[in-house]
Amino acid sequence: MRYGGIEAGGTKWVCAIAEDPGQPLKTDMFPTTGPAETVSRATRFFTENGPVDVLGVGAFGPVDIRLGSPTWGTITTTPKPGWADFDLVAALRSGLDVPVALDTDVNAAALGEWRRGAATGLDTFFYITVGTGIGGGAIVNGRILHGLLHPEFGHMRIPHDRERDPFGGICPYHGDCLEGLASGEAIRRRWGHAGQQLDDDVVWALEAEYLALALVNLACMVSPQRIVIGGGVAKQPALLPQVRRRLAELLAGYLRVPELTEPDAIDRYVVAPRLGDQAGVIGALELARDAGHAGHE
Ligand code: ZN
Repeated sequence: MRYGGIEAGGTKWVCAIAEDPGQPLKTDMFPTTGPAETVSRATRFFTENGPVDVLGVGAFGPVDIRLGSPTWGTITTTPKPGWADFDLVAALRSGLDVPVALDTDVNAAALGEWRRGAATGLDTFFYITVGTGIGGGAIVNGRILHGLLHPEFGHMRIPHDRERDPFGGICPYHGDCLEGLASGEAIRRRWGHAGQQLDDDVVWALEAEYLALALVNLACMVSPQRIVIGGGVAKQPALLPQVRRRLAELLAGYLRVPELTEPDAIDRYVVAPRLGDQAGVIGALELARDAGHAGHE
């Protein structure tokens, strides 16, 4: 079987074709522009390099992934121009007549890291991306976590000390939620420059504080065995060590398990993705493979 995978992110799309999801034969990457143009670039890639038997899609959200829902496959309340209420799966299927398996881009990345990356062998872990926006996906007890819709990790509320950080936040729904305060776009708007151009300690100490606050909530709430942090902002070398240190301080020894209390355990508890920027598209290929297997049983 030949699998197609799309990491349909809010900033960029990555498309890949593979027979083994861990070894893409061909990939393409392009920026996310308007829906019609972006979908047609993707369908052209699969038409020119295909055919594929089944397509896995990890989409930016919020997206309706509730099986049986009349609006399954539709991007819902995104502030991204042109994309709100866009029926992504229908658009892909009108260009490529193949079955489509759908999940969120971060759930796909979580699946990729679980099957082939930094979370193999675990049954409960969380994948977070800190880039233009902030998202999170989870594997819980060996299954992708869906529940009501899908996790919206970036929109959790965290304490906001307005004396230390008077910036009001950028989330159009919540203002100073986690994404509103700590996303790449929030960094750019607060400081006037993108994160890559900022090597000021104050910038990264504040960023680490917000992420560590969110991770404490996550560790206490979902009880993940590991937390994988990807995304462009997380590539800042100063960031992850500070997040780990603050997380350990904020947990204050309360969760007394070897995964958190052994020497240097925190370095293995909060890690970068082993698949790097490929996690999302490899996870999308895994979604396709799972759907292909299901169809043949
Ligand atoms: Zn929000």
